[in-house]
Amino acid sequence: MGYQLSREQFDSFLARLQEEYRVFGPAVDVDGGALADTDRITYKEVRCLGDLELNRKSYFSPKEIFYPVRETLFRFCQGDTTEPQIDGKKTAIFLRPCDINGIDRLDAIFLKNGPLEDFYYKRRRDKVRFFLIECTTGFDSCFCVSMNANRTELFDVALRFGDEILADVKSPEFEPYFAGLAQKPFEVRFIEKNSKEVRLPGVADITPDLFEHELWKEYSARCIACGRCNTSCITCSCFTMQDVSLGAENQMGERRRIWAGCHVNGFADIAGGHGYRQQKGDRMRFKTMHKIYDYYLRFGKHQCVGCGRCDDVCPQYISFAGCINKVSDVAAER
Ligand code: SF4
Ligand code: SF4
Repeated sequence: MGYQLSREQFDSFLARLQEEYRVFGPAVDVDGGALADTDRITYKEVRCLGDLELNRKSYFSPKEIFYPVRETLFRFCQGDTTEPQIDGKKTAIFLRPCDINGIDRLDAIFLKNGPLEDFYYKRRRDKVRFFLIECTTGFDSCFCVSMNANRTELFDVALRFGDEILADVKSPEFEPYFAGLAQKPFEVRFIEKNSKEVRLPGVADITPDLFEHELWKEYSARCIACGRCNTSCITCSCFTMQDVSLGAENQMGERRRIWAGCHVNGFADIAGGHGYRQQKGDRMRFKTMHKIYDYYLRFGKHQCVGCGRCDDVCPQYISFAGCINKVSDVAAER
């Protein structure tokens, strides 16, 4: 059902929504940027329309709302073990189609990648609802159309923001919030062309010799292993485990899981001190092939959704979109 809301009506809707949901969206972190006197756009709790930043792209993705950077899995004391409870409130997130598709890719890793679902991911993810922000222009670094991630049906409510706000309410869960508002047919539109395009290699064209190709050496020279591209990515899911002892003789403590990234030193270290992928170019290859090759073989879609954040945040101006094009060129010329 479609509805039309004034800006004041939208703020009233948000106020009522917050009684049952924690509401997150892209918002400005004033002076939170990496350089002096610069802002950072990130995902934060929003209370009114004015809190939403709809014209600038977020530096971080929304994944940390339901997949925390650091999470305690359980605590132990003597022989007892307890699992921390989580906030019982549901979560509503304002986000764009690329990020909904990105969360679909995370769901596959945590919930469909074997016989068992990840309990800790699922209990938070089950509480999440999607409020789609209509996106028809994108930003300079986006290439969602190339990755076939510009469209989605996985939303509860779709919204077009303007002088007035149009809403397509798909989930019955949210119909009561719109009762009594003016009805107006509304069908969300999706971007059809980004300013940036990438050429994906055919999956069959990715052969073992490509893994040894010279092209990866450039990244050994340029990448500084900061991991920004991993932490800003909506689809990077890797974590490491940490056991923390809080008392004498390890009788008390907790086990945590913490985001990890394939570009960072130590990620591929193993017992005995050996580390796979010592060269940063090897790490770039590992990430690239996961995003556009082996994930596809397993799940039938590419993991990368073309949000372009990795290109936005890299301090070395390494372009992942450019890397995909280079792989395509090499694959095509053989
Ligand atoms: S690899 Fe880059 S463009 Fe692709 S989903 Fe991750 S951050 Fe976005
Ligand atoms: S953001 Fe750039 S420099 Fe940092 S790890 Fe990623 S590719 Fe390397």
